[in-house]
Amino acid sequence: MRLLLIEDNPSLAAGLSLALSNKGFSVNHVDKGQQALQAVKIDKPDIVTLDLGLPDMEGLEVLRQIRKLDSQLPVLILTARDTTEDKVCGLDLGADDYLCKPFEIEELEARLRVLERRLGTSSTSEIECGDITLDTASLEVRQAGQLVDLSRREYTLLKSLVLNSGKVLTRDNLEDKLYSWGEEVASNAIEVHIHHLRKKLGARLIKTIRGVGYTIEKL
Ligand code: CA
Repeated sequence: MRLLLIEDNPSLAAGLSLALSNKGFSVNHVDKGQQALQAVKIDKPDIVTLDLGLPDMEGLEVLRQIRKLDSQLPVLILTARDTTEDKVCGLDLGADDYLCKPFEIEELEARLRVLERRLGTSSTSEIECGDITLDTASLEVRQAGQLVDLSRREYTLLKSLVLNSGKVLTRDNLEDKLYSWGEEVASNAIEVHIHHLRKKLGARLIKTIRGVGYTIEKL
């Protein structure tokens, strides 16, 4: 899940980036409205958190322009402004949710999970695929009821494949989902994670489509 974090407070942004990366989000942080719009255009995030008090643009204007670029992109407003007027205005402009600072990181994560679920079809935090169950709240994976110990990147990789079961994901698709923008990625990184996943979950689950990428069959 690619998350665009629009936040001009450096320490808050650093804290959120770390916490959300640990929860499996691939976080791209920008601190200005113009950069945010560029990132929406070019990097195509899956979800956005937007601070309303930005140095170069009104946050609500950023939201208005995001909506012009992508009417479906989930946007969660994070702001110190907590007047009813601002909330209503943000929601009227098409924000999906609203959280006032200060907030607990757990609450932010819970709300992002709700938005994430809206992107998919599942109505619970569990995603099932054959005998595999992923819990997007606890990040636990079970196979036939048995807990399987996965690294964060293995989990994110498996989740991407499961959410797109029946489709082939290329190595580039998967790198985008696993790594943040500008992060150094070893050329065989995806192959290594796939190898580990096969060792832990059995060799037959993830299929290699030679020269294209990887897939999990729709079950
Ligand atoms: Ca701010």
